[in-house]
Amino acid sequence: MTNTLPSTDLLARFTAIVGAQHAVTDPAAQAAYLVESRGLYRGTTPVVLKPGSVAEVSAILKLATETGVAIVPQGGNTGHVAGQIPRPDAGDIVLSLERLNRIRAIDPVGNVIVCDAGCILADIQQAAEAQDRLFPLSLGSEGSCRIGGNLSTNAGGTAVLAYGNMRQLCLGLEVVLPTGEIWDGLRSLKKDNTGYDLRDLFIGAEGTLGIITGAVLKLFPRPAGHQVAFAGLNSVAQALALFDRASSLCGPALTGFELMPRIGVDFTTRHIPGVRDPMPTQHAWYVLIDISTTDTAERAEQMMQDLLTRGMEDGLVENAIIASSEAQRKSLWHMRESMSPAQKPEGGSIKHDVSVPVSAIPAFMAQADAAVMAAIPGARICAFGHMGDGNIHYNISQPIGVDKQDFIDRWREINAIVHGIVLTFNGSISAEHGIGQLKRDELAEVRPSIEIDLMQRIKHAFDPAGIMNPDKVLKARTA
Ligand code: FAD
Repeated sequence: MTNTLPSTDLLARFTAIVGAQHAVTDPAAQAAYLVESRGLYRGTTPVVLKPGSVAEVSAILKLATETGVAIVPQGGNTGHVAGQIPRPDAGDIVLSLERLNRIRAIDPVGNVIVCDAGCILADIQQAAEAQDRLFPLSLGSEGSCRIGGNLSTNAGGTAVLAYGNMRQLCLGLEVVLPTGEIWDGLRSLKKDNTGYDLRDLFIGAEGTLGIITGAVLKLFPRPAGHQVAFAGLNSVAQALALFDRASSLCGPALTGFELMPRIGVDFTTRHIPGVRDPMPTQHAWYVLIDISTTDTAERAEQMMQDLLTRGMEDGLVENAIIASSEAQRKSLWHMRESMSPAQKPEGGSIKHDVSVPVSAIPAFMAQADAAVMAAIPGARICAFGHMGDGNIHYNISQPIGVDKQDFIDRWREINAIVHGIVLTFNGSISAEHGIGQLKRDELAEVRPSIEIDLMQRIKHAFDPAGIMNPDKVLKARTA
């Protein structure tokens, strides 16, 4: 389906819905909406619309379906796969949710918060905290990403191990369909087996089925005890063995188990202001262990002590430190979250967001390392991530001294090598960042044709005019 390039008259009709002051046409003011954080994708738009109500979103989508104009929803523009970026010269209108940022209700007894989709994640965390509750989704981009974007990418982050990703944190949704109809699914039920799960279709759809305008999110008790440790180990296999011990010992109190390589520690201490190596000794691998308990603070302390003592006795842990203050806990997490940005000053990097079954991580890493080093001698592999979720950010920095562009130009070849190995483990080529534009064509190659066909049929059922974020996730139908 080919979308319409909106005429001046049609643009005036779209603008009238939100009011001229909320329709951005000035190129300088539009710039921040047209490029994603890594600068890999740039788009153009005739106008960025910023509706101030669900009714306005509905009117925009109704007009878009009637006229065939494409709409690209955007939250905080922090997504890593360019789903939020309009296509160049295609007439795509960007619809920013930023003005829909109201917390509608909070119920600490029922443990739910109801909010607009344009609320910033950090604001939801703070609103929960003000009621002595926890909203556990936590990402490096939490100061700017928005709930609708988190839902639409089914975001993961640092606490998936204990609380799940966004799909597990959401009870209900309000969605404006491409026709302009409003689906009010803002239910706060934990149990509801009444037919197909429409909510779960919209979560992770990356704005291709409709626009999420509101959500009911789950809250949790705030932990009484919180411990963070940083442990040095000799191998990924030892990290896996320690994870196994940690899971058995801590159960649901184990909130994070993050893997980091020595080279990642070197990159962060070299390039990120304020980051220091917390340990006097050097190790091939490190894990950051996060334990939270809701009953007493002492229990978290005891668990961490027991885990590290056993880890050392069993020869898994070579050295470890336990953060003794909130500031130290934050600084250990800051080091972990700086792994990716710290690669930038090291030149070109080729990044992967993959998952394999947790127990297969050492074998996956060994095979991927061997294949990558054979293809690019001198490549600096900086593989880190949410080990407890089986999710590794398998990133590769360029060899020292080679041309940056020559290295980056090989990303398809290297992607094929790494993703090929991931698939032999029945893994995923996108664990938490989604598909967007970046992995759209690859998705069609790695998923069985029946799955792609079912996705196309769902897309067509919701959006027969093909106006919702076309060419993202799936290639737009041509007829
Ligand atoms: P955007 O980037 O604006 O949009 C993302 C997608 O959702 C697009 O396809 C867009 O069209 C669609 N969309 C946005 N709003 C709506 C809506 N209301 N209705 C329908 N569709 C919509 N991700 C993780 O999972 N885990 C991490 O640990 C993590 N860490 C990150 C760290 C940094 C520093 C950065 C920059 C990003 C990180 N991300 C991580 C990427 C993550 O996807 C985003 O941060 C976030 O979830 C996207 O929210 P956003 O509001 O920025 O969405």
